[in-house]
Amino acid sequence: MSEERFADPGTTLSDLATHFVVHCPKCEGKALVNPHDDSFRLTCTSCFHVETPGHWYGAMTAYASVKCRECNSQITRSATVDGKWKKLKLKCDQCGDECEYEAHLSRHPKHNGLMTDPIFGLNLWLQKPIGDELFWSYNYEQLSLLEQYVRAKLRERGIDNKGSKNSLMFSRLPTFITRAGNREEVLKLISELQVKTL
Ligand SMILES: [Zn+2]
Ligand SMILES: [Zn+2]
Repeated sequence: MSEERFADPGTTLSDLATHFVVHCPKCEGKALVNPHDDSFRLTCTSCFHVETPGHWYGAMTAYASVKCRECNSQITRSATVDGKWKKLKLKCDQCGDECEYEAHLSRHPKHNGLMTDPIFGLNLWLQKPIGDELFWSYNYEQLSLLEQYVRAKLRERGIDNKGSKNSLMFSRLPTFITRAGNREEVLKLISELQVKTL
């Protein structure tokens, strides 16, 4: 094993999903979401806003399946919602009655096409489109792991390791990162993100 080869970045990347760099909900500046006590805490590096988990800023799907309060027929609806909506307006096809019902909510990892953190649903700081794809990273450690990986792949250029254990280990990364033609571009993007201040 050469030194450029390291452990499965798919696994290592998820091991690093312990803290997140996001856009501050108050000032859009760079904020850090770090473990704190048994939970997490957001601290903004520009406006010093501090927030504990509770409010989900990301997108959600609200789903409700209930019996109409007037005629008792079944009504079902799901819709993408923002923010803290916990109720869905449902209209009964049978009697036309309209009412808001308690909805089951499921959180989306993306909001308006951008990747968010799993704690607050805030847009990740380290993300950028590359072609039709979105490159993203939860934090600087993940970013540098991806950088090391792409650099190592670049050095291996020309070696056909299709089907080898090594390429299988990397198979969980998005293909646009592993695609040979993209590597210079991905490295350029990573170095832009490493110094991103706004
Ligand atoms: Zn802020
Ligand atoms: Zn009804």
